[in-house]
Amino acid sequence: MTTLIKNGTVVTAADMARADVLIDGERIQAIGTGLAETGTAAAADTVIDAAGRYVMPGGIDVHTHMELPFGGTFASDDFATGTAAAAWGGTTTIVDFAVQSYGETLAQGLDRWLEKADPKSHIDYGLHLIVREISDGILREMDRMIDRGVPSFKLFMAYPGVFMLDDASIFRAMSRTADNGGLIMLHAENGGAIDVLVQRYLAEGKTAPVNHGLTRPSSMEGEATHRAIALAELAGVPVYIVHLSSREALSAVREGRSRGVPAYAETCPQYLYLSLDDLARPGFEGAKFVCSPPLRPADHQADLWRGLVTDDLQVVSTDHCPFDYKDQKILGKDDFSAIPNGLPGVEDRYTLLWDGGVAAGHISPTRFVELIATAPARMFGLYPRKGTLAPGADADVVVFNPDAERTLSATTHHMRVDYSCYEGRKVRGQPEVVMQRGNVLVRDGKFLGQPGAGRFLQRSRFSPAPAPA
Ligand SMILES: [Zn+2]
Repeated sequence: MTTLIKNGTVVTAADMARADVLIDGERIQAIGTGLAETGTAAAADTVIDAAGRYVMPGGIDVHTHMELPFGGTFASDDFATGTAAAAWGGTTTIVDFAVQSYGETLAQGLDRWLEKADPKSHIDYGLHLIVREISDGILREMDRMIDRGVPSFKLFMAYPGVFMLDDASIFRAMSRTADNGGLIMLHAENGGAIDVLVQRYLAEGKTAPVNHGLTRPSSMEGEATHRAIALAELAGVPVYIVHLSSREALSAVREGRSRGVPAYAETCPQYLYLSLDDLARPGFEGAKFVCSPPLRPADHQADLWRGLVTDDLQVVSTDHCPFDYKDQKILGKDDFSAIPNGLPGVEDRYTLLWDGGVAAGHISPTRFVELIATAPARMFGLYPRKGTLAPGADADVVVFNPDAERTLSATTHHMRVDYSCYEGRKVRGQPEVVMQRGNVLVRDGKFLGQPGAGRFLQRSRFSPAPAPA
């Protein structure tokens, strides 16, 4: 089975040129000009005309939470609905977070997630592990997880009593990765101080959603980010800050990098496009925008865009963790701290970053591909099989129409959640054809994927993305 994508503009993190792409089976066989007239390509089983379109790698979203248990409920997308929505939006690989429950081994957490994901996922997926307890046994088990293709571990400096680890535990885990080559990812917020503020606000009767933002000040994200990087420096290991949201945290990353620490960070579309004003919407509507770290005052956004340009931020992921407004977010009607934390986003990332990044003139198409696919693939052990278009790579391909205009809305999105954070927002750009390993998942507005067709990706150890040329 061969497919020829002809007449498009092929974009990778390195360059951009008019070229044809020939796919044979699950992999890309050739990229070049004039393939359409020659040999195998001339007799391709399927031909896709990509004139006027960009041909780009499928997106890689390294931060999703399908079916995550949180605050007495579960994220509303499972691996079937969430990965279908991802594919609709141009994302062909996710890396989700398996969770170690208290008293459980890492292997038990991993196996539970594989059981959930494997029969359902429409797209290829990897897993990180959320580690909630550190002991000698768990440290040894990290080595075995790396052998099973799970080389990245997320630790929390927030949510005391739920996820938070103390500095000693974080430092011990980091020290282990100095030997085993794993990567520690940190949710960097000062959970202790935040908890005190939350209790104080609630005692004062401040219960509305906006208080979620006011009790998690950006200074406490900056503090924790600085501490995380200092601990990694002491352990002599790289570190990756998840969902960075503020200029204080970005400064900590930039300072670390400027003194040579291999510190890396991702941000998410919600921090680039939404703000504290959304959390402060009237009534209970702000609950739709409750995530942690919280949305920041709008003037942080320009700093984050600059970070994406200067490569102090290397990745854009979503932290996709949807909860229905009507029957899940409502759990916090009288107490902002009981609102399930998380936003839907896995479907919108590709187009939002194109629209607000490339179409708006902040970043080039090549930098877009680097942020959306190539850097995540490199950092999380999927490159060069994923994250680029090259002979031998998996044929995970998006044919993208940059001129299509549409309006984001819960009435048209495919995520299983009853609202959109971007309701009514007009965007330029539409993934028209989405392929994984040569199979068409989306074409002509139709979904052709199969639950369970996605494969678990055993990832290799961390390797950093090079700085842009
Ligand atoms: Zn998360």
